[in-house]
Amino acid sequence: MTDRLRIALQKKGRLADDSFELLKKCGLRFAIRGGGLLARVKNMPIDLLLVRDDDIPSFVANDAADIGIVGENVLVEEQLVSREGLDAEITMRLGFSRCKLSLAAPNDGDINNTEQLNGTRIATTYPGVLGNFLKERGISAKSVEMKGAVELAPSIGIAESICDLVSSGATLEANGLSAFETILESEAVLIQSGRKLSADKQALLNKLMSRIDGVIKSSETKYIMLNAPKDKVAAITELLPGSDSPTIIPLAGKDKLVALQAVCTENIFWETLEDLKALGARAILVLPIEKMMS
Ligand code: ATP
Ligand code: MG
Repeated sequence: MTDRLRIALQKKGRLADDSFELLKKCGLRFAIRGGGLLARVKNMPIDLLLVRDDDIPSFVANDAADIGIVGENVLVEEQLVSREGLDAEITMRLGFSRCKLSLAAPNDGDINNTEQLNGTRIATTYPGVLGNFLKERGISAKSVEMKGAVELAPSIGIAESICDLVSSGATLEANGLSAFETILESEAVLIQSGRKLSADKQALLNKLMSRIDGVIKSSETKYIMLNAPKDKVAAITELLPGSDSPTIIPLAGKDKLVALQAVCTENIFWETLEDLKALGARAILVLPIEKMMS
């Protein structure tokens, strides 16, 4: 039995690059070369298993991997379609690859709400989640299972509507479809089975999860520096997202001005900068934070 922590990841696709990047930001050093199923991490006892995303939940459930990174949509689907039940659960939400599994129909057609699906055909790659939803809502419709290109189903006449993943909505729009109901919201998640890990592996997993937490937090956290009129410090602090006590530093030769520095735990948008400027803030700098540990 290997004592290296085995992580199942999507080999290629929408989840792959962000998963690799997350692990690299956590300090794992590895190289992905075409073809191979396995990538060894050079500086830690970790192996990466590179597979199709649909296989990740069963890899974890069947002890081919200790943990996996997969879209929540895939986990839920595999749990619903697996007859004997699947021993894989979410350990941590990862915040990237956010998307929705939505119902959509042609803009110029008759269907624009869920009740109208009765007696129709719905094309999908997610028969488990769709079937479960239809059952809960008491709708009888036929689900037509496809492996891909679901958005083409209405135009080629094999279904009246579709149930597919949507992020920006651009693919739907390009195919003359619009979404009318969300049946599942999804993001990338770290999954694990109920099996107990060896003490060494568990310690390594805890370390990895604490680093992932730091990466997620620091990606949303910014350091802001600005000069402000002394009498506006309170109003300016109010505007800074998620920062309660900024550092205030006097400015040489300027009685009425101070320098203000703060860690903001949420993203700072252009609108916030414009509001800060309107309050008299000047020389505003927003800096990324590379690493964080609290
Ligand atoms: P594989 O070859 O590994 O089976 P796939 O074709 O099934 O890949 P991808 O299209 O690469 O899957 O998507 C992987 C995951 O990325 C999805 O399951 C979903 O969680 C996430 N995702 C994020 N945004 C989108 C989107 N707009 N469309 C589809 N998937 C998205
Ligand atoms: Mg897949």
